[in-house]
Amino acid sequence: MGHPVWVPLKKNQFFDDAPGELSNFAQVTISRDRALKVTLVKRSNRAAPVTTGKDIGLDWGLNSMFASDLGDQLGRQFYPWLRKVDAQLTKINVELQRRGIKPKTNARYRKFNQRIREYVRNEVGRILNRLVKRYGIKSITLETLDLRNGHLSRRMNRILTRAARAAVKEKLKSMSETQGIEIHEVNPAHTSRECSGCGFVSNHNRKGPHFVCGFCNKRLNADTNGSRTISLRRSQGLQYPYASRQTVLQRLDPRFEARWGLKPGDAEKLRLAKERRPVTVGLTSLWSIRGLETKLH
Ligand SMILES: [Zn+2]
Repeated sequence: MGHPVWVPLKKNQFFDDAPGELSNFAQVTISRDRALKVTLVKRSNRAAPVTTGKDIGLDWGLNSMFASDLGDQLGRQFYPWLRKVDAQLTKINVELQRRGIKPKTNARYRKFNQRIREYVRNEVGRILNRLVKRYGIKSITLETLDLRNGHLSRRMNRILTRAARAAVKEKLKSMSETQGIEIHEVNPAHTSRECSGCGFVSNHNRKGPHFVCGFCNKRLNADTNGSRTISLRRSQGLQYPYASRQTVLQRLDPRFEARWGLKPGDAEKLRLAKERRPVTVGLTSLWSIRGLETKLH
């Protein structure tokens, strides 16, 4: 006991040529035929930041795993698969409950859980790799994941949220370290309702696939506006990590009011206002709201 064991290792050209420094630990695996395998591990140095390529915005989709601001729908089989597994999971759960067994203590249930986590992890990796392959990517900006999906059970949503958060975090970290891709995270609150031109937040700004700002009258594709808003929030340091929707709005409104010389509370009044008529101030067409004094610069 306590004596070192010397293990002779075979030379491997691929391993020798791979970049990185030798780690001070080895990986030991025991295969099914009970053979012991010792592998050295190399720690690759951080990749230099990518200086060219696209800055891409990603949204956690409701119909596919990810939607990009370039119009991609990635991972369309993700939700159909989860829904199918969700039905099986619910069945197991009902069965366990009937027999008075806690799911956590049941091997079959745990295995199921594991399978879902592995699937999510593989899919996240596969899809993000495909995205990088398709475009040269310099940076990825992602909304802080809000994964709740109305078509899945609460139990499945909980498993999915945990699994996907971990998988996405791990994958993005590795992409940043080994490929030099910049990763940014932005709070998703109100990004689809905020005007990327003037900063006005309103439900009325969104008209299906179109975005028409109720304040500055900017018109553009809704997805493009959303991804621009995400980009702008990132470049202005307005990521608001983990803040609630209400808190985000409480910070966006004063910025908007200060920018256009409005009084505190005017943003909310603008949102509530039903009657609008257009006025022209300088070269920009703006909307004045009856009962609201707008001092526009
Ligand atoms: Zn606007």
